[in-house]
Amino acid sequence: MRKVMISAVMLTAASGVMSVLSHVTRAQTAPASAPAPDTTPLAASHKLDDALLEWPLPPGEQVYSRIDGKHLHQYVEEQAAISRRYRDQGHPKFWGRIIGSSADAESAEWLANKFKSFGTSDVRIQPLDLSPQWFPQKWDVTVTGGGKTIRLDSAQPDYRAAALPPGGLDVEAVYGGLGSAADLVGKDLKGKAVFTYTMFGTHSEDAVKRADENGAVAIFEVDMLPGNMRYQAYPSNTKAPAFTVGSDDGLAVRDLIAGLPPGQAAHVKATLDVQMVPNLKTALVWGTLPGATDETIYIVAHRDGWFEASGDNAGGVAAMVGLAEYYARMPQARRRRTMVFIGLDGHHNTGPGSAVGGVWLNEPANKAKLFAKTALSINCEHPSTIQTYVRPRYLAGDVVHWSNMYTAQQWYAGGPSRPELTTIAVKAFKEFGVPLLTEPNPRPPAGDLGRLYRFTPGVATSEFFHYFHTDRETPDTVPWTGLQATTRAYAKIIDEVNKQPLRTFQRPEEPVPTR
Ligand SMILES: [Zn+2]
Repeated sequence: MRKVMISAVMLTAASGVMSVLSHVTRAQTAPASAPAPDTTPLAASHKLDDALLEWPLPPGEQVYSRIDGKHLHQYVEEQAAISRRYRDQGHPKFWGRIIGSSADAESAEWLANKFKSFGTSDVRIQPLDLSPQWFPQKWDVTVTGGGKTIRLDSAQPDYRAAALPPGGLDVEAVYGGLGSAADLVGKDLKGKAVFTYTMFGTHSEDAVKRADENGAVAIFEVDMLPGNMRYQAYPSNTKAPAFTVGSDDGLAVRDLIAGLPPGQAAHVKATLDVQMVPNLKTALVWGTLPGATDETIYIVAHRDGWFEASGDNAGGVAAMVGLAEYYARMPQARRRRTMVFIGLDGHHNTGPGSAVGGVWLNEPANKAKLFAKTALSINCEHPSTIQTYVRPRYLAGDVVHWSNMYTAQQWYAGGPSRPELTTIAVKAFKEFGVPLLTEPNPRPPAGDLGRLYRFTPGVATSEFFHYFHTDRETPDTVPWTGLQATTRAYAKIIDEVNKQPLRTFQRPEEPVPTR
């Protein structure tokens, strides 16, 4: 595992002592392969890994010590390296384990090789055709006013954003505040570029949509999370292309506009070249551990993600691989049910033609064949995320502080019709130290269990925290301790489910929810 060494220290002006647990986010657009620039973890160890709190194994559960978080974290590192290789092969701004890309193919090979190395049977990569995929080729955004020009390095087009005309645009910039109706009173957005400001956790103002409806030709949504991260957003579904912008760049634009003499406007020059690339493929990656019966347990995880995609979803894939490795060591006769592992293509290519793997699994014939005797399906998705705090009260600095603990997760375990599964899961999460929100989600957390839970007894836990979908979603943001706790809990759930007959968990297919 990569050790995060102190490379910058924070001195508090008042006391002159080194602060601890500060993870300052000033240099967040540094290339991910560079040493982490900004960690000042617990001073005694100088290593975040060693500072993390590890939940002790409960008495009598030593068998689960074979699921080792530091070992699982290697799998996070290996997947992040696939992403960085793709970035370094000429994709400096839109990169990751992107569906249809060479990184997708490499991730499929990597996973199949892992399954094979454990002696898993029926390992195969099932290719799937993709509709044309959105790949932005090049873009550039500058803001000029009062003799100054700012290049917005952090600007990232929302997924599926429409290309700008060749030559780009050169239009007036408008400061849009939060982008609420009140913020835009008296402002003419027609034919202009609008900057709006928001942050995860604030009330949604639908600013991008409102700016689009008011005639803006480019929309810049600034994320006020400290630092200058690139954030890859899902589609804005607007006519005008929308970009996300990091906080430092966004504040610089705001200050530039504020400093202009009355009557002068700032100007935005922007280009965005997009290709819809046809004839690409993705894949489902299968591995099986035959059990004593033909009843099944499915463990799935999506392979795709943006940038290093460590929390989303190298961590989930690592948990799935860890479970395959753990149960592969068990004699077949001791596995009551056949275990099927699927590396899903994923869903970050959201929109028409996305999530082809999930769609394939939902085809009636496949569904009937695969899931008729399924006692449990676990979706491993974002199982471990570092707990961070933004601008904590009374702590100086416009920074994100890191803690030595993993976040509480959203969760779902069988839903209201399967109280037995909920009870098993809650007990396992408690015993193995997996913090949860106090109430389950009415439906699975956003992610791939959404395609399975209506006809299989599903379990999922997930959290989407500050670095989600950003170029700062490095392996360090996935604490090995959380990975270990959640994966052990999943194993415990599997073992407890295996003590019960199929009928305890099986229910008729639930209707498609009407939101
Ligand atoms: Zn995910």
